[in-house]
Amino acid sequence: RLAQADEAAFGIVAAEAGATANHPLMELEDLELALKKGQLRLHYQPQIEVSTGRVIGVEALVRLAGESGNLELPGSIIPAAEASGTITRIGEWVLETACAQAADWANQGLPPVRCAVNLSLAQVQHESQVERIVEIITDSGVSPGQIEIELTETSDPSDPDEVSQRLKPILDLGVSLALDDLGTGYATLSLLRRLPVEKVKIDRSFVSGLGAAHNRMEGLRAIVEMGQGLGLTVLAEGVERAEQYDTLRALGCDSYQGYYFSPALPAAELATLIARNASH
Ligand code: C2E
Ligand code: MG
Ligand code: MG
Ligand code: MG
Repeated sequence: RLAQADEAAFGIVAAEAGATANHPLMELEDLELALKKGQLRLHYQPQIEVSTGRVIGVEALVRLAGESGNLELPGSIIPAAEASGTITRIGEWVLETACAQAADWANQGLPPVRCAVNLSLAQVQHESQVERIVEIITDSGVSPGQIEIELTETSDPSDPDEVSQRLKPILDLGVSLALDDLGTGYATLSLLRRLPVEKVKIDRSFVSGLGAAHNRMEGLRAIVEMGQGLGLTVLAEGVERAEQYDTLRALGCDSYQGYYFSPALPAAELATLIARNASH
């Protein structure tokens, strides 16, 4: 085990697990209001390099702070926001906040970690949206090489060439690109061929099938080999148990995220974790 998840982290796991993931879709006005009232938060989940045990990156994940102090997971937020177009404004807030945080960590002298931000395809439909994204990154003072964009291959068969064109001004800054939820999408291979992807993130559903009753090891091996064969960094999502971690390491997976190491944490706790991790 690379890092002993401490009690605080388990507390957060419990808090995140207890968050209302499946409540009815919020009213669209509520989302706008939540943004205006400053009820959005970002938590950051560490990404660990298997060969060294080092935290090499974090993923920014949005949370909605409810009136009663509870935290809602984005499962309930993102689909509604994508459908209504609010995702553009939420996404801008997320990017602004994550870039500022990454710049701040660098200024604090924390060991450099890459900060990954999820981007919906709905956020890059129009040139003006892309211009705004470029502006946010540039204005934040972050070194663009520290920022990674995670694009999810949805069930929506969008034109990879068009997506590639849209992303170009962002990637030209030096921002890197990861393909999220690999194995769940519609046109993964054509996206991988056409986009300058540096990292693939294997969806949690493949990892959760490991060990215990199931054995999805061969499927996972094929995905890891494909990713590495294409020269990409391969990260496994949703690693919760030692046997899953052991299997991924045996398969040569480069890095992972999951409750086994840590859930997403508030920025200050994440900074403490990184500092502690770097001193081991
Ligand atoms: P994702 O990008 O695939 O993020 C990984 C999700 O898995 C996160 O859920 C994370 O909390 C959860 N997770 C991490 N480790 C484990 C584990 O060991 N076990 C289990 N069971 N779950 C784990 P979360 O935060 O609820 O986010 C869900 C999805 O919402 C994300 O999936 C992403 O697609 C979307 N999302 C989150 N934040 C944003 C955002 O700022 N913008 C956009 N466009 N989408 C976002
Ligand atoms: Mg993601
Ligand atoms: Mg993912
Ligand atoms: Mg996923």
